[in-house]
Amino acid sequence: MCGIVGILGKHEVAPLILEALKRLEYRGYDSAGIATLQNGHLDRRRAVGKLINLSDRLVHEPLPGKAGIGHTRWATHGPPSEANAHPHQNGPVAVVHNGIIENYRELRAELAGSNFESETDTETVAHLCARFMAGGMTPREAAKATIARLEGAFALCFLFDGHDDLLVAARRGSPLAI
Ligand code: GLU
Repeated sequence: MCGIVGILGKHEVAPLILEALKRLEYRGYDSAGIATLQNGHLDRRRAVGKLINLSDRLVHEPLPGKAGIGHTRWATHGPPSEANAHPHQNGPVAVVHNGIIENYRELRAELAGSNFESETDTETVAHLCARFMAGGMTPREAAKATIARLEGAFALCFLFDGHDDLLVAARRGSPLAI
């Protein structure tokens, strides 16, 4: 189990996301991360271990921005590490994920040529969505097309470079409160 949070706010959201992740700590986790949009551009911080490690990181390397997503990870694919921590990003797409993408191997094979940075099933989602956008889809269309390709149980939240008024969330078989 893990926790995912997304906020489109009027003020800086990283502190709010951190607070929300703290409320989800009881679910258990091994690493955590946050991505925000700063002046329209995605940036992220991730850390292994407890949320204090992420909040210490944010003190030294703050993440301004009024739109963001956050995650506490319970590793299923790939050990706890910064590279495997969420959010995962590929090009203009950042994503946090709770659950398991059962067909990630098949999707990874289709995405041959993409440069994967983690061992997770989740990173496949970011690459697939970015591939659809590169083919001309809008972020919403790309997220929808991506979700249609996924097998398994998941809750997902997407954030897109250049779209600071948009969060896309989806779930299948995993809980997600909006
Ligand atoms: N399967 C994903 C991973 O291993 C998400 C795990 C979770 O629900 O935290 O990164």
